[in-house]
Amino acid sequence: METRELCYLDNNATTRVAPEVTAAMLPFFEKQWGNASSAYSFGSNVAKHLEKAREQIATLINADPREIVFTSCGTESTNTAIHSALLTQPRKRHVLTTAVEHSATLNYARFLKGQGYEVTFFPVEPDGTLDLFLLEKSIRSDTAIVSVMWANNETGVLFPIDEIAAMCRSHEVQFHTDAVQVPGKLPIDVRNIGSDYLSLSGHKLHAPKGIGILHVKKQVKFHPYIIGGQQERGRRGGTENVPYIVGFGRAAELASASLNDENTRVRKLRDRLETAILETIPKTVRNGAREPRLPNTANISFVGVEAEAILLLLDRVGICASSGSACTTGSLKPSHVLTAMGLKPKLAQGAVRFSLGIYNTEKDVDYVLHHLPGIIQKLRGLSPTSVAKQKPAAGK
Ligand SMILES: *Cc1c(COP(=O)(O)O)cnc(C)c1O
Repeated sequence: METRELCYLDNNATTRVAPEVTAAMLPFFEKQWGNASSAYSFGSNVAKHLEKAREQIATLINADPREIVFTSCGTESTNTAIHSALLTQPRKRHVLTTAVEHSATLNYARFLKGQGYEVTFFPVEPDGTLDLFLLEKSIRSDTAIVSVMWANNETGVLFPIDEIAAMCRSHEVQFHTDAVQVPGKLPIDVRNIGSDYLSLSGHKLHAPKGIGILHVKKQVKFHPYIIGGQQERGRRGGTENVPYIVGFGRAAELASASLNDENTRVRKLRDRLETAILETIPKTVRNGAREPRLPNTANISFVGVEAEAILLLLDRVGICASSGSACTTGSLKPSHVLTAMGLKPKLAQGAVRFSLGIYNTEKDVDYVLHHLPGIIQKLRGLSPTSVAKQKPAAGK
């Protein structure tokens, strides 16, 4: 088989670690490997870099650095926010979230329901948006926290979280937003939003997998999720993952710098890809509102074709895309997001997500548009000759 470059269009699943991030991290593996909590300077010097990273991330989201708690991932951050709200308000036993959250929120909320808490999984409209009037009506006197994602990882649909945060404030209910898909794509200003908690994950913004933050507003009473040492001023036990934290800090700087590229060049690439697919391949539909939407995400259903089959054939020519969240890939269950939008199983099963990023070029879009129409035609069984042509040679 010929060697070809990877055509990576799955940036909502994870992103390539930026070379600048790797460079920033290396000294903390090779030389400055001390424990940030140690009294001697070999340790306390490391702590300075930890605090610098905290400031870099605080700058990205316009927060006070002391409001940033480092965690192991986005999942830990969302779990921590909801857990904290419930433990600090023991008489409030209701959680309000949406039916389209990432499994990091959804499955934790399901777990809580099994533990006897009351949970509302608020539905979405057919275009993936929220009816805010009805959402407000779902806030109860015993609601401990409202947790609503900012940008949907499958469709890219944006929720008006500043309005939802204001709604929560007027009801004196805490608000958490899973903003994992947002950095580098939209500006983030926690002071302006007025959220109590906000979650981010490093590997969605060109830092490594396995590092996240939870922003906790100063005025909010907090209860830790991981209990141990006094790291993170008692808010998260466990020796700090210094290299990854330093990398996340550098990635936060890069995310601010790439805002413009994502919203101009990457948006144009996404639009060109989406428009060409919808116009040239018959029986295709975009899933989710066109706007407001992340600039990098396109979710398209190919009627009558299984997404898994499309992904397999795309993979053979080196194209990485996804059929929804990576966590559900492998099971043929249609995406919970598309199901919540009311898509019939036949449409939901044919949905492919393309998510672009700053490392994509026109060449990637050309390459997909070169291969995809034939793949769809082949899978629809319209052209037996193209099937024969694309079959790998025997023995490979
Ligand atoms: C990836 C993702 C998460 C989970 O982050 P991890 O660091 O992988 O745990 C949570 N929410 C959204 C919207 C995501 O895209």
